[in-house]
Amino acid sequence: MKPLNQRDSTALVPSPRPSILKIAPYVGGKSGIEGHANPIKLSSNETPFGPSPAAVAAYREASAGLERYPDGHATRLKQAIATRYGLDEARIVVGAGSDEILQLVAHAFLEPGDEVIFSAHTFLIYRIVSLANGAVLCPVPEKDWCADIEAMIGAITPRTRMVFLANPDNPTGTAVGAEAVARLHAALPGNAILILDGAYAEYVTRPDYPDAFALASAHENIVATRTFSKVHGLATLRVGWALAGAVVCDAINRIRGPFNVPGPAQVAAIAALSDRAFEAQAVAHNTAWRTQMTDALSGFGFPVIPSEANFVMLDLSGRPHGFDGAAAEQALLAWGIIVRRLAGQGLPDALRISIGLEPANQAVLEAFKAMQGGAR
Ligand code: PMP
Repeated sequence: MKPLNQRDSTALVPSPRPSILKIAPYVGGKSGIEGHANPIKLSSNETPFGPSPAAVAAYREASAGLERYPDGHATRLKQAIATRYGLDEARIVVGAGSDEILQLVAHAFLEPGDEVIFSAHTFLIYRIVSLANGAVLCPVPEKDWCADIEAMIGAITPRTRMVFLANPDNPTGTAVGAEAVARLHAALPGNAILILDGAYAEYVTRPDYPDAFALASAHENIVATRTFSKVHGLATLRVGWALAGAVVCDAINRIRGPFNVPGPAQVAAIAALSDRAFEAQAVAHNTAWRTQMTDALSGFGFPVIPSEANFVMLDLSGRPHGFDGAAAEQALLAWGIIVRRLAGQGLPDALRISIGLEPANQAVLEAFKAMQGGAR
């Protein structure tokens, strides 16, 4: 008998659904520079502090027991989240990063032909999860680098089924206020879901930042997502979560992998949540350096978009000091600094720079100062 894969040499190769082939695979940030043993990596919005020591200890402890399946309901993690933020734990779902939550919501609720609204240059995963389910993309250009809520409202049609709003946005770093989010929600049909992606929520300082948890508690069609990848420093463990209505939680729980968040990740996340002092100092550092980087780089003549996140975006479309996006990226690489050029988001002349520890931030400032002086 012939082996299975040689049975019929005339068989057609398998073909994915057509919408899958419209997806450009996600490309992550660079992680190394040839010739630099220890480059400064500011390209993926990771926290420069790493995780809380309590989270590392919990993770180590969980290494005794790797043969066991984890709690598929992440019961203790959900309880810890509910206690920390004053939420109903029945409305919480956890995922392998908030990326997985976004995928699951799209998979459970989008049908081919459904329309999905998002800002034109926002987080690329929204496009990927929408196309993966045959939805029609409705990107809306930003206004002054910020989500244009009026234009998004204008893009709503009877076919609109989902709106993604990264708040703060990645890669621009801008955020929208409570009043604008309320208007956007009010304009949506009840069977459309508004996803408020709060991956960078902990870093926000603007006073009118919307309370996504209150909104998702009050409205069945609002999903508020959060992650342990940023301020909690657990990106490699892949833990994210969402607060959502009963119907959304139920749908996600039907289709998610039964053990989608590993046990060591669950206990590390619980420990991270309880180390409030660690989190507070990471946020304070970010707030101080975000202002300093914004002011200094703008002072050197490189326009910075005011940010509410743990990174800043530079708009080099005016070629300040002769540097467009590609030239600035190359100059920084020569200094041993990796930043994110945003060509994949359709912004070839924009750079996104994560806020690092003081020496990394000083290195960035030194490099731009030299570039201002004409150094290449
Ligand atoms: N949303 C936004 C806006 C992000 O920038 C990211 C991280 N790049 C995510 C969600 C996903 O993060 P994670 O899957 O690590 O939770």
